[in-house]
Amino acid sequence: MAKGVIVVGSFNVDHVWSVATLPRPGETLAGEYRSGPGGKGFNQAVAAARSGAAVRFACALGDDAGGQLARGLAAADGIELHALDSSAPTGTAGIYVDREGRNSIVIGPGANAMLSAAHVRGLGSCLAEAGVVLAQLESPAEAIREAFALARDHGAVTLLNPAPADAEVPPELWALTDLATPNETEFCTQLQRLRVAADPATVAGLADAELHALCRRLLPHGTVVVTLGAAGCFVSHAPGSLRGDRAACYRQPAPRVDAIDTIGAGDAFNGALAAALALAPGASFAGHAARAVHYAALSTERRGAAAAMPRAHELTGRFG
Ligand code: ATP
Repeated sequence: MAKGVIVVGSFNVDHVWSVATLPRPGETLAGEYRSGPGGKGFNQAVAAARSGAAVRFACALGDDAGGQLARGLAAADGIELHALDSSAPTGTAGIYVDREGRNSIVIGPGANAMLSAAHVRGLGSCLAEAGVVLAQLESPAEAIREAFALARDHGAVTLLNPAPADAEVPPELWALTDLATPNETEFCTQLQRLRVAADPATVAGLADAELHALCRRLLPHGTVVVTLGAAGCFVSHAPGSLRGDRAACYRQPAPRVDAIDTIGAGDAFNGALAAALALAPGASFAGHAARAVHYAALSTERRGAAAAMPRAHELTGRFG
């Protein structure tokens, strides 16, 4: 039987205002308001579930309307929740988006900050059914570290999406990571923390050998996939790491799509990649990367994050 995906991460209620310009200090603006589910963890869990994997989502929720929203939406997508019931409110994000698509975001971590190593240990025997354990950096590092250590004990692949960029990755967490999936900004920020110079504006244009060398600095023993927006992604394998029969490094271009909203594209990519790895662990990694790139590209044709995640059958026949 195919193994599943465990996602360790955040759930937020996103409050989004579309405004002409981002508010300046002291300014009051009117904007069009909408709210909906978000949080990198939840978005990635939905993407993995809609990609066809059995998904369990380890998170922390408040005893409030946001927590109820999470429970209802997870059930609708067939996601098993392993939720810590927190006395803190469910996580929130306040997001302003201007006419140019630029945004300003304030996160209220709330319950997300309460996710603990002890709660993750409660996953217990579920870890034996997981092919991939996927985490981002909107949850406490101790909880992620515990999940990855248990994943290693059970032979599951550990996939770290080192987002958001301003969050630090402790060295012990890098040491437990098999596969990392930064975007260009996250890639350069994490390299700079290792005192390696890297500029997000020029990353995509580097020669493959140079980019491969930078990836090897970031994760010497594992696989790094740098997502490059409309340019797809760059894959770099350490010797023996998830490599299959392909070269040590290669690019996977993205298909041309009518992108109208790229928010959550990275989450789509991570969920789809985790699902592909769990569903077909012996298949070529290049095929998994291609699937994730196509899935994420398709997600940009709709507005929203979790709600915009495509279903697996929508990819069939779409990109030839
Ligand atoms: P976000 O933070 O907006 O969720 P990200 O910066 O983490 O996204 P990106 O590198 O921008 O991630 O995009 C992830 C993937 O989404 C890409 O590898 C690609 O497959 C797809 N994608 C993003 N933008 C486009 C686009 N304009 N056209 C086609 N595919 C895209």
